[in-house]
Amino acid sequence: MELKFELKCSLKTSTDATKAADVVGAFINEANETILTKGAPEGQGAKVTQWSIEGDRIKLNVESGRHVRVHDAMLRMRKPLAGKLGKEFKIGIRGIEVESFTIEVPSEKALAEMKIPYVTEMSYDAGAIKLVLDVDEAAMSNRIPDRILTLMEDKIEQLSYGGKTEHWNVLWQSEKKEHAFSEDPTKAMMEAGWIKRGASRGQWVHGPQSTKMFRTFEKIVLEELLEPLGYREMIFPKLVPWEVWQKSGHAKGVYPEIYYVCPPKTRDPEYWEEVIDHYKVTHEVPTALIKEKIGDPIGGMCYAQCPPFWAYLQGETIPTDEFPIMVFDRSGTSHRYESGGIHGMERVDEFHRIEIVWTGTKEQVIEAANKLHDRYMHIFNEILDLEWRKAWVTPWFMAQEGLTGVSEQTEAGTTDYEAVLPYRGEEAEWLEFQNVSVNGNKYPSGFNVKSQSGEELWSGCSGVGLERWASAFFAQKGLDPENWPEEFRKRVGKIPEGVRFL
Ligand code: ATP
Ligand code: ZN
Ligand code: MG
Repeated sequence: MELKFELKCSLKTSTDATKAADVVGAFINEANETILTKGAPEGQGAKVTQWSIEGDRIKLNVESGRHVRVHDAMLRMRKPLAGKLGKEFKIGIRGIEVESFTIEVPSEKALAEMKIPYVTEMSYDAGAIKLVLDVDEAAMSNRIPDRILTLMEDKIEQLSYGGKTEHWNVLWQSEKKEHAFSEDPTKAMMEAGWIKRGASRGQWVHGPQSTKMFRTFEKIVLEELLEPLGYREMIFPKLVPWEVWQKSGHAKGVYPEIYYVCPPKTRDPEYWEEVIDHYKVTHEVPTALIKEKIGDPIGGMCYAQCPPFWAYLQGETIPTDEFPIMVFDRSGTSHRYESGGIHGMERVDEFHRIEIVWTGTKEQVIEAANKLHDRYMHIFNEILDLEWRKAWVTPWFMAQEGLTGVSEQTEAGTTDYEAVLPYRGEEAEWLEFQNVSVNGNKYPSGFNVKSQSGEELWSGCSGVGLERWASAFFAQKGLDPENWPEEFRKRVGKIPEGVRFL
């Protein structure tokens, strides 16, 4: 079974076109050999398989494979045919009317039923998924059928990975260590009164002791990494509108994990009076009524931290000697709707992270990533004394392209930093506590940022998750400063008292 497009349509003419039949026939015969095969491998272009003229309709059946798809074929034929009919018969072409548009996509398995825009029917038979599309001329010239094909091929590919999204490949691993602690650090921190559950899902209130730890981790990152490497601090927005996620690519998949943000339809107090009165009388917040009074979601709460930074560079041409631009943000929380019953501090819905972002030429971006890797190595080995490893994680579609097995960052991709959690066991899943990503030209191109030199811009980012650092460190070292490495103890100083409760 091979990929197949089939289109039945009519070219609508300004007047009866019967008299032009010979010219139309000759044009189609020639097109089948020329414009409909141009650029395609031998024998793999589009083909008009049937045609007829009925009054002011030139009816066509067109078939194709991957190359010169049927809708491209129509666009290629329309203008030259209009030229011929106009010149010889004073007949104009008014538009394309689609009677039917189908795509057959080879697949070993059927896909679950789903709703896809423009797709009116989906069925599976004999090694192919057959899609019936409801598209008009505008949708065809907007490349809707191409996007539907890409979407289907992505879904079919996903099926073959069995739900796995990443290919994982260890790059470096510390020696195995003896751990002074083997309990769940979240429980230990709760028992010691360092943290308490917040009122919202997956959220914690950090007492003075835990806060001191987070600030110490930040201080280490600042003093050992950001300052020596010359990163500048910025403040990134924390409410992210759809426009940003459309440009960063997150709009392609972030929906199950975001906290949505809806503004009020108006700030007129009268409009809200009913809600206010309802609360005052019942002491219940009327959420159904509120839902009616708020607008559509405009976006969500900070998810990945770096996308809203790009509004700062968006649309700009930047002097070549400004690069590499190296900045970081630690101005607020990130929010993710995480799955499952809740989890300790290592997987929370509200977390704190230093996000490091850099951009420049490909070479500058890769060099910056490698410098970060070196500094992190120093921090985790010499200061925190962790048992940890680095793994190259490649999305499966890239793994197919052979981008695996690199020993240092030489291309776009993500390195995850993982630590063993002794209470779970050496064999259990390790905890990803941060990552370093080289994102290629995705962000500069998505946000239209240019270098004066005209050279292609790349970017990278690294997210230092403070809850994850704490989980890794306390899981291995416990809460007793006696068991902490000297280099860390030195930097923490005195741990403040918490609040006592009766
Ligand atoms: P995981 O696979 O553990 O869910 P992720 O791949 O979703 O992690 P990224 O999207 O790469 O994580 O986020 C970058 C960093 O942000 C992580 O390395 C981690 O430090 C932090 N982070 C992400 N999600 C959470 C969370 N729910 N709680 C605490 N920190 C998080
Ligand atoms: Zn980022
Ligand atoms: Mg996650």
